[in-house]
Amino acid sequence: MIAPHAIQQVKEAARVEEVVGEFVALKRKGPRFLGLCPFHNEKTPSFNVSPNLGIYKCFGCGEAGDSITFLTKHEHLSYVEAIKWLAKRYNIDLPEEEQSPEQQLEQSERESVAVVQQWALNWSVEHLWTTDEGKRIGLSYFHERGFSDATIKTFQLGYVPEQGNAFATAAIANGFNPDVLEKAGWIKRREDGTPWDFFSGRVTFPILGLSGQPIGFGARTLKSDKKFPKYFNSPESVLYNKSRSLYGIHHAKKSIVEQALCYLVEGYTDVISLHQAGITNVVASSGTSLTEDQVRLIKRYAPTVSILYDGDAAGMKASLRGIDLVLKEGLNVKVVTFPEGEDPDSFAKSHSSSEVTAHLTDNAKDFLVFKAELLMADSGDDPVKKAAAIHEIVESVSLVPDLVLRSLYIQQCSRLLQVNEQALISEMNKVLRKQYRKKLGGDGQVHEEVSRPELAPAQPLFKDLGTLPRERELLRILLAFGHMKIVVPFATEENTTVEEEMSLAEAMFDILATDDLLFDEPIFKEIYLDYRHARNLGVEINATTYVSHLREDWQKWAIDLLTEKHPLSQNWIERHRIPTKRDTTDLLNTLTLEIDGWKLKKVMALLEALTFEIRDATYEDAVILMKKKRQYELIRKSLADLKGTVVPS
Ligand SMILES: [Zn+2]
Repeated sequence: MIAPHAIQQVKEAARVEEVVGEFVALKRKGPRFLGLCPFHNEKTPSFNVSPNLGIYKCFGCGEAGDSITFLTKHEHLSYVEAIKWLAKRYNIDLPEEEQSPEQQLEQSERESVAVVQQWALNWSVEHLWTTDEGKRIGLSYFHERGFSDATIKTFQLGYVPEQGNAFATAAIANGFNPDVLEKAGWIKRREDGTPWDFFSGRVTFPILGLSGQPIGFGARTLKSDKKFPKYFNSPESVLYNKSRSLYGIHHAKKSIVEQALCYLVEGYTDVISLHQAGITNVVASSGTSLTEDQVRLIKRYAPTVSILYDGDAAGMKASLRGIDLVLKEGLNVKVVTFPEGEDPDSFAKSHSSSEVTAHLTDNAKDFLVFKAELLMADSGDDPVKKAAAIHEIVESVSLVPDLVLRSLYIQQCSRLLQVNEQALISEMNKVLRKQYRKKLGGDGQVHEEVSRPELAPAQPLFKDLGTLPRERELLRILLAFGHMKIVVPFATEENTTVEEEMSLAEAMFDILATDDLLFDEPIFKEIYLDYRHARNLGVEINATTYVSHLREDWQKWAIDLLTEKHPLSQNWIERHRIPTKRDTTDLLNTLTLEIDGWKLKKVMALLEALTFEIRDATYEDAVILMKKKRQYELIRKSLADLKGTVVPS
């Protein structure tokens, strides 16, 4: 736990343009910064960073937030990790709140395993390059694979001698606790307690975390003896979670973002060979089949993943199901296959860089199309197999969260499978209903006979007269200018006016309270009441309070409202100008005009509702309602006069 005052300190120190600027190239444009959005693929910049508000917002895809949001979304950090990142960036000491004994233990275990992994990395790299055995066996193996010295160094490949306990001896002599060495996966112990090297006689591939620190290792034997598994991986530890790590992510993340595309391969050497061939946006799921966490990690960086397959048709079919989960996360999935007998590694070695790039681009096939073709080819003329294949494909399509994309897939599959589109849609609806029922905790069975037709939605009593845009504007004025001081004239009993200085927010509360008005839109009402409550308690509130609010829905609204294209007022906030007398008069006028406009809309809505009520009312009621209606008509008229609008009576 981090103390709240320290979090506040970090938030205040963080400059959004500096934080975002570490990951996105930004150009100053007036009071703002502009760049290419890292969250979607675009050619013209629509990603805005506003230093004065401390926020970023993309007008292309709608991503928005403050420095912390940016780090959680872009760098895949948790809230606490983002605070720590910023504290480090701005040299702020984070006094931690008391940790429980378990937390302390985990923290210290995490730190000591991290130290071991870094030390082991250096040790194995040194053994590769400086010892005879390392050079003769390890280095020559890497060279045979076609890795250049530069590549070997970039990926920090290493070697562990065959001797059997060389690492253990050196590490223990260096003062490391054998328990920690074992937890880090570098040693095992015999029954009598003597340690032996888990990776002896193997070349090592360090698995780096997002920020480049080693979290685990893959190690390959160089013996052809089939008795030993080709690869050993570090066991899971406090630091290394297989299903959450991707091999190569540290080296790849920048170019994954730049190209808005991530290549996914099977092995360490595939990653390295492609990297050496100039394709750097490539990762591997090390030692596991693709997991949901890995898919989410990829999604942080790119909207599209392209899976490079080297297997034969049977192998591909087996892994198809696993890929469905990528669809569920809303990633675009493409598949690239290789000529018979080639894998990404061998292909990258036997072809030029531009040939590899061309192959990856030209052969990228949409996953669902790929799956449909594969299954249809497999089922041949067998109608039963064909029906099963269609069902499987429809199941995959039903996982795509985007409705438009889903219907495009249905069209495409209808052509490919030569099945009527309507038949596919009804098959898919069955699947969707089943999924829905499962979600509700049912048995997943579709009970067609009990499902009733949907009731037509109730007709609204009167049509929405559009008070929402008015409320939007009012809330925007409150958030953007509520803290500004304005001068409000009051009429006195002696027919003179006195001027009183107050904040725009206070003026607004006064005016709305006089007529007992509140926002109709629930979320606006919540924000308005929260603002008023805080002000009444004397809490300082300004435009940035809600843009970094912990309630995400409030934060989203605040950012939306404050970044709306509204030239005059936007400039006020961004230039931090001290308002002149004229400005404050303008502000007050803007406020009252907006409130009057809003009232007018409300009154008109009420009048329309009354008209319906009177039509259906008893005679007695109608008389009362008519009276009410006349009052509203008077209000409407006076409001319309104020606005100078002609309203037909
Ligand atoms: Zn965007």
